[in-house]
Amino acid sequence: GKKEPTDLNQLADECLRLSFHGLRAKDKSFNADFKTALDTALPLVDVVSQDIGRVLLNLINNAFYACAEQPREPGSTDTDYGENGQKAKPQVTISTQKTSKEVIITVSDNGPGIPEAIREKIFQPFFTTKPSGKGTGLGLSLSYDIIKAHGGELKVESKVGEGTSFFIHLPLNS
Ligand code: ADP
Ligand code: MG
Repeated sequence: GKKEPTDLNQLADECLRLSFHGLRAKDKSFNADFKTALDTALPLVDVVSQDIGRVLLNLINNAFYACAEQPREPGSTDTDYGENGQKAKPQVTISTQKTSKEVIITVSDNGPGIPEAIREKIFQPFFTTKPSGKGTGLGLSLSYDIIKAHGGELKVESKVGEGTSFFIHLPLNS
């Protein structure tokens, strides 16, 4: 792919809808709220849009999985969400913001969070906590490499019991 000036708000919005509707098509009972908080003054950024789209889809799919797709207790009702006694309605939010040097895209969920003991490992190839057949463990590793190749950074913040945010930092004029 080739770098081209890209509207990251539009790309983020498209990836969020694509992910939601894809999960819904596979499982009619899939439900979650999804929201965007997009900086309307975001400049176009020179990126390989297909690659950034791949990163966004992976982070969004991980986020929906974490807060909405995890196996539930047998006999749970529609109002019991997730594991770990988590009761909030699954919600994934994407926001964008601009600083003087970079654009930051944030993908947040209100899932169970990432335990500190595995936070170091999640960017390693083939690391997954998903049941076999559900994940390859390659998504974050690939995403990390793509963002590095753009001169950016992929960071994570997570609080067990509250949720997780991934931050894509992309430099302006890269
Ligand atoms: P996969 O999705 O195939 O498991 P990834 O590289 O995308 O591989 O993610 C690796 C692991 O990181 C996941 O299996 C999970 O344990 C953890 N993880 C990633 N995103 C989240 C998230 N939003 N909330 C909780 N855990 C996460
Ligand atoms: Mg993944």
